[in-house]
Amino acid sequence: MMLPVANRFVAGEGPAEALEHVRQLNERNVKAIVNLLGEHYDDREAADADAREYRELVEDIARSDLEATVSVKPSQIGLDLGEDVFRENLEGIVETAAERGVFVWIDMEDHTTTDATLDAYEELAREYGGGVGVCVQANLKRTRSDVERLADVPGKVRFVKGAYDEPVEIAYKGKDAVNREYEALLEYAFEQFEDGIAIGSHDPAMIDRAIELHEQHGTDFEIQMLMGVRNDAQFELAEEYEVYQYVPYGDRWMSYFYRRAMERKENLWFAVRAVLGR
Ligand code: FAD
Repeated sequence: MMLPVANRFVAGEGPAEALEHVRQLNERNVKAIVNLLGEHYDDREAADADAREYRELVEDIARSDLEATVSVKPSQIGLDLGEDVFRENLEGIVETAAERGVFVWIDMEDHTTTDATLDAYEELAREYGGGVGVCVQANLKRTRSDVERLADVPGKVRFVKGAYDEPVEIAYKGKDAVNREYEALLEYAFEQFEDGIAIGSHDPAMIDRAIELHEQHGTDFEIQMLMGVRNDAQFELAEEYEVYQYVPYGDRWMSYFYRRAMERKENLWFAVRAVLGR
């Protein structure tokens, strides 16, 4: 059973709880990116089972008429087992989603997965004429050229700072360097992309910069934030802009909750206070 304190960051253990959370978000004009928690499977059955659950989730979203997309991690659907397993499972999800009109995001994991993830994204986005998006990370030095490659692909790109601790030879280190690179990527995207830009960040400075660039170039964009992080800002921004909340669910909630609680002092205090009942 999920600890009640975890429900700030995780919608529940099953899809019904996740979709109920999405319904409440939609009532306040916030759309959703639903993520089944899970990663790094070295067992084909587990990877196939999560791919199956994603296909069912897509069907549920389509039936319930909710404003929701899904987001999947490559290593959750078989990338550690082989690129062919990942491709097969991803294509199954994208095919079902395309038939139902549901958008599929592909999360980006550490640098050893970047090529396989971008190749799969590009191929599927071209085959299905959009309907698919991928995440790119500003902390990786390669990302500028990746984004140039993606400029004319008919999908969406989510720009994030990057959650993985990467080797110094291939990554920018330190907040200032990553922030500078993030801004440079946004400037390029707002100039060169016709649409399909997602700002995956809680950073007010980056969101303000995206709004400025949107006003300057007229390019559409969306803002994406995690469930439980700057919730009030999400609802406020949604009065004027397209906002998506990333909504994780599933029985593997513990390590995700731990990561969220540890990444910022405020989150840790929130968790401690909730456990102490204060
Ligand atoms: P930070 O650089 O951490 O912080 C900048 C400022 O933002 C802070 O000073 C503060 O003002 C504000 N802020 C940040 N966090 C909080 C908080 N908890 N509470 C209050 N204010 C806060 N990474 C990947 O590597 N791959 C992915 O696929 C991926 N997908 C993501 C999807 C979404 C929707 C989001 C939001 C993030 C995703 N990330 C992903 C994580 C991302 O790479 C960053 O690690 C993470 O978002 C932290 O960076 P930041 O830009 O939000 O802000």
